[in-house]
Amino acid sequence: MQIQQSFNLSHHNTFKVPAICPQYFEPSTLEELKEAYQSCKGNFYLLGEGSNTLFIDNQAPLIIRPKLMGKSINMEKNAVFLTVNCGENWHELVQYCVANNYYGIENLALIPGSVGAAPVQNIGAYGVELSDVIQSVSWFDFSQQQVIELDNRACEFGYRDSIFKQSLQGKGVIVSVTLKLAREFQPKLSYKGLSFEQKKLTAKHVMERVISIRESKLPDPKKLPNAGSFFKNPIISSEVYHTLIATYPDMPAYKVTEQTYKLAAGWLIEHAGLKGYRERGVGVHQNQALVLVNFEHVKGMRIVELATLIMEKVQEKFGILLAPEVRIVDRRGLTSISEIMV
Ligand SMILES: Cc1cc2nc3c(=O)[nH]c(=O)nc-3n(C[C@H](O)[C@H](O)[C@H](O)COP(=O)(O)OP(=O)(O)OC[C@H]3O[C@@H](n4cnc5c(N)ncnc54)[C@H](O)[C@@H]3O)c2cc1C
Repeated sequence: MQIQQSFNLSHHNTFKVPAICPQYFEPSTLEELKEAYQSCKGNFYLLGEGSNTLFIDNQAPLIIRPKLMGKSINMEKNAVFLTVNCGENWHELVQYCVANNYYGIENLALIPGSVGAAPVQNIGAYGVELSDVIQSVSWFDFSQQQVIELDNRACEFGYRDSIFKQSLQGKGVIVSVTLKLAREFQPKLSYKGLSFEQKKLTAKHVMERVISIRESKLPDPKKLPNAGSFFKNPIISSEVYHTLIATYPDMPAYKVTEQTYKLAAGWLIEHAGLKGYRERGVGVHQNQALVLVNFEHVKGMRIVELATLIMEKVQEKFGILLAPEVRIVDRRGLTSISEIMV
């Protein structure tokens, strides 16, 4: 197994923040993963491709980067069951599926990151969530030292949420994911940008459109370091919604249930006057207020300070507390803005 000492993580997180970890383990088999776990004695951070991770100290914890690669296919009459190991890249998987006529994840094209991290926050975009196609997840459980299968229901998927962020946080590793994909194309075109002229629409058309929308709307982390949406879209009660909409009739909102509405965090940030705000090397993107940018590759703490300012301003104006979607990591491991700001 590859083990690196005093490893520089600045090219292993899309915020490009500087951070050094004492040891970086890159297990490529289950045996190596067990070995890495034993060496770290439970005190480490699991890193995928770092596109949803913010390191805030110069010193990072020990890092395990699971690099189990490969996939296997079980073809049935109406469905394809595709098992993909955690180290594979998500977007390459989408391209592979589209090229082979396995349907269901074309709307999730160009989301950065690894397959292993995808179920953690139940990645979603353009009307599709990973939970729509997950059959099961293979989970290496630290306490049992063995792999167990969790079916879709057991993963407790929600909006940018799953059991892996909740009760199983820190208790194991997703080693592979099994997707149930369709063999017949059923386009999901609920997102308003996905309307087509073509008579014979293909998954490739949908994937290409999603890529072009994303490229036109979202800053490329290679040019402007960011981690996509920094905050989750808040879900509020219908009571709060009705009070707000009376004051802000243009406020976009999406009814989730009879009792709840989802608001656009980007709109709240913009209307708190922070779109395009920039200070000390970091800022709010000028077109996408939900995206925080590390313009000058400065330390992660600056981004936390900016996020805190945004949370305060949005709360002051709308009475809504935004919750970060990005995983915040200090020298000891996973933490949260409220713990840091105590
Ligand atoms: C430009 C940009 C656009 C984005 N757009 C979207 C979008 O449209 N929709 C969306 O949902 N997300 C989006 N994201 C967020 C991000 O791409 C996803 O959250 C992605 O799944 C993160 O993958 P990663 O490998 O980089 O995860 P990392 O940041 O490395 O890790 C994320 C979390 O997963 C855990 N983890 C990693 N690997 C494993 C494993 N094998 N087992 C268990 N836990 C693990 C980590 O400990 C951490 O808690 C975007 C990010 C960027 C930079």
